[in-house]
Amino acid sequence: MKAPPFAYVRARSLVEVFDLMERHGDRASLLAGGQSLLATLNMRLSSPELLIDITRLAGLSGIEVRDSTATIGALTTHAAIERSAEIRKHLPLLAQAAPHIAHVAIRNVGTFGGSLALADPAAEWPACCVALDAQFVLAAKTGTRRVAAREFFKGLYATALRPGEVLTHVEIPVPGPECCSAFVELAQRRGDYAIVGLAAVAKTARGALSDLRLAFLGVGTAPVLARKTMAAMEGKRVSTESVAAATKALANDLDPTADLYSSAATKMQLARVLTGRALAALAN
Ligand code: FAD
Repeated sequence: MKAPPFAYVRARSLVEVFDLMERHGDRASLLAGGQSLLATLNMRLSSPELLIDITRLAGLSGIEVRDSTATIGALTTHAAIERSAEIRKHLPLLAQAAPHIAHVAIRNVGTFGGSLALADPAAEWPACCVALDAQFVLAAKTGTRRVAAREFFKGLYATALRPGEVLTHVEIPVPGPECCSAFVELAQRRGDYAIVGLAAVAKTARGALSDLRLAFLGVGTAPVLARKTMAAMEGKRVSTESVAAATKALANDLDPTADLYSSAATKMQLARVLTGRALAALAN
């Protein structure tokens, strides 16, 4: 199928973007990497009258680590994050997750901000941002506000973005040297969206885990922070007994919904398996 007709503007500044969004309202869509948007146009699942291409906007891409905060521009591609030495050093969770996103050709073009704004429940970046307690910088004509990742994802493809707002940057506190991370997921085939995935970060001291954060993807309409499971592991060493207690607690955190391929029970079992794998990886 072909996309319905639309007008196209390559924006030269954020001010121009804000003006166009104000004038066209929900009849306009921002175009970043286009790796999700163009597919929905071609399948006629969306039909904006105007595409506002933001890919050439200055200052919205790149990775900067200053003091104890990493700032990632919304237009930074998945591949740039995957290849970044700064990311490997300061935010290894993102480096671990990146190879699970689609295929190389898509990672070369698709953007961090596009994935977060789309809020696919099976996407890797939203869960990573929740696990890392990231802050999203949202800019509009009227000013800029920050929203925590755990508040940003509202449901199936629904976010805290208001009409006229652009996600410009993501700020992520850099975990200290005592921190470790693991990203694990199960997919039908390499490159497919995850059936279930898990982004995990924790502090380790003398073999015990603390400040554990477990953010699941693919189990609901948005990333799920498994608070009861995190509490069950707090201060514990990773052992057969502690992992059994943690996976038991998962039943209080997750209520997976079936998708086209997997039942809710299958997803729950996969979540237990991934929890064991992630905790083992954190302990090593
Ligand atoms: P676009 O497609 O350009 O935009 C997506 C949406 O976000 C649009 O509504 C757009 O208006 C909005 N938007 C974009 N940028 C901003 C911004 N800065 N502020 C506000 N709104 C904005 N993703 C995964 O996470 N995991 C996968 O396994 C995966 N597999 C894929 C497999 C295939 C075959 C394909 C085609 C895609 C797959 N994707 C996967 C999606 C891919 O990662 C996309 O790149 C990503 O979801 C969207 O990023 P984009 O830059 O392409 O955004």
